[in-house]
Amino acid sequence: MIFNIMTLFPDMVENYFQYSILKRAVDAGIIEIQTTNPRDYTENKHKKVDDIPYGGGAGMVLMAQPYVDAYESIEKSPKSLTIMLSPQGKPLTDEMVNEFAKFEQIILMCGHYEGFDERIRDIIKPVEVSIGDFVLTGGELPALCLIDAVSRKLEGTLGKIESADEDSFSNGLLEYPHYTRPREYRGLKVPDVLLNGNHKEINEFRLKQSIERTKNRRPDLYEKFNKNK
Ligand code: SAM
Repeated sequence: MIFNIMTLFPDMVENYFQYSILKRAVDAGIIEIQTTNPRDYTENKHKKVDDIPYGGGAGMVLMAQPYVDAYESIEKSPKSLTIMLSPQGKPLTDEMVNEFAKFEQIILMCGHYEGFDERIRDIIKPVEVSIGDFVLTGGELPALCLIDAVSRKLEGTLGKIESADEDSFSNGLLEYPHYTRPREYRGLKVPDVLLNGNHKEINEFRLKQSIERTKNRRPDLYEKFNKNK
């Protein structure tokens, strides 16, 4: 899977892939990270990528020419998807992540300042994705969130020991609580059932915990889970 991140700040995103599981995925060739900087495609001598908004108002707007030219310079694979990170997009879910993981290439358009000249949307026609109902200064963190979530779904990224099969949302529920050594910490004991080696009982206990958690913390998910049962 090739991720091409369109950003004015390539250093900000490249560093993320130098660590832990995603570094391993890069080294193993499961994911490839490329960056494209619209600043390299400006046609003005000051390499300006933003300008004041027509009609007035606060902030600077990303100009169409550098962004569109930068986009068109990217080699597209036949199974390529273009995503614009935007607080006005569809909120990201695990189901969307599963769909995105089926592509060969994802191009991620990061905005900055006030956002994009509307004609960038009109010309490129990306899928717009939000990571939640709040506004960040740029699309780099949302792009990294999306890449991280998609990469976990690709075969080989997680070792067997880190399997995503039981993660929250995979079966419509939040995951059950975890415990590790020691058996007792500050008077708090690990539930006995987890120590008895009976996998049937352990699975039943975990499922019950999972359902309880979802019911208490995310009634919206719980309702959906019950409907789909
Ligand atoms: N003026 C825009 C609006 O109100 O819709 C917000 C622009 S924001 C300050 C700058 C950039 O950060 C956006 O173009 C987008 O790429 C990114 N961004 C900010 N919040 C985001 C979110 N919740 N999800 C995805 N991207 C976001």
